[in-house]
Amino acid sequence: MDENKWNNWKWQLANSLRSMDDLKKYITLTDSECEALQNVGEFAFSIPPFMAERLRESDENSPLRIQFIPNHRECSVHFTSKDYLCEGTFEPVPNLLHKYEDRVAILTTNCCAAYCRHCTRSRLVSQHFGKNLLNPAIQYIKEHENIADVLLTGGDPLILEDYILEDVLEQITSISHVKMIRIGTRTPVTLPMRITPNLIRVLEKYKPLYINIHVNHPMELSHETRNAISMLVDAGFPLGSQSVLLRGVNDNVDVLEDLFKQLLYLRVKPYYLYQCDELKGCEAFWVSPLKGRKLINALNGKLSGMAVPKYVVDMPGRLGKQIIAPCNLTDIHDNEMFLESYKGQKCSLHI
Ligand code: SF4
Repeated sequence: MDENKWNNWKWQLANSLRSMDDLKKYITLTDSECEALQNVGEFAFSIPPFMAERLRESDENSPLRIQFIPNHRECSVHFTSKDYLCEGTFEPVPNLLHKYEDRVAILTTNCCAAYCRHCTRSRLVSQHFGKNLLNPAIQYIKEHENIADVLLTGGDPLILEDYILEDVLEQITSISHVKMIRIGTRTPVTLPMRITPNLIRVLEKYKPLYINIHVNHPMELSHETRNAISMLVDAGFPLGSQSVLLRGVNDNVDVLEDLFKQLLYLRVKPYYLYQCDELKGCEAFWVSPLKGRKLINALNGKLSGMAVPKYVVDMPGRLGKQIIAPCNLTDIHDNEMFLESYKGQKCSLHI
């Protein structure tokens, strides 16, 4: 394989694997995976060769493989919603979500380098749309002076070509009441060669710019991913990570501890651990919030506070995020607040 091609993100995307036959060149698929790949429906399957190579030696239960390759786990019985968060109810113009007073999210593109099987926007991703469709979103921000913070999300904004991304950033930052930009991206994991010196030069013009990456398991922190993260941090972008609590991927203390420590060593602040949405196709990934709470409370004390993210559930509609853990509070009564340490020791505070 020509190394220059391999390290070129556009080559990776152009040669992405999109079918069972493509994937069979890399991986011995199980019957369950073959069946699911033949019936993926609207939520397309696609992974770049870089990710496929990383899956070459994996078994069918590998935490990496179950996140990207469809299998029978996607057959939901109880979870039937395609838009669990009811995002359509706070989308005043196409491709713009306005849930909180001073900030909005722009659905910059519907494409991603690889499609995560637990994606909360599985109903939208994997369909192309042109940049002009963002004009109403930009106009909306111009007309709402209370909007100071704009999140570029999607899909994955870093899947856009540099000149398109620059055009979007230029338009947003030229609005005087917008004070900061955030970008949510999974490319450092799924397509780390996307983080190029030229991309950094583009992004540097639009500081303050915060970048939140999405990492769910330490196996995602490949050598290439670590380099991509270093390039972003060295360029001065504050990096956070948003993970999703997923059964069979990271629903145990040791994996989460390792993940959060490694992120912190890479200068990435573990920011949120999301409760998996009750979404069609995600049932097998869902973990009880009671278990999630125990996992995070067990880490709170074991790890530096900097390494422990907030464990949150995004509620449908405008309710927004609710913090589930860390929380040592167990009860309040008779002027006493009762707390429990991560080792299970009880104590109380007079209130
Ligand atoms: S990268 Fe993000 S938006 Fe794209 S499929 Fe994965 S979770 Fe969904």
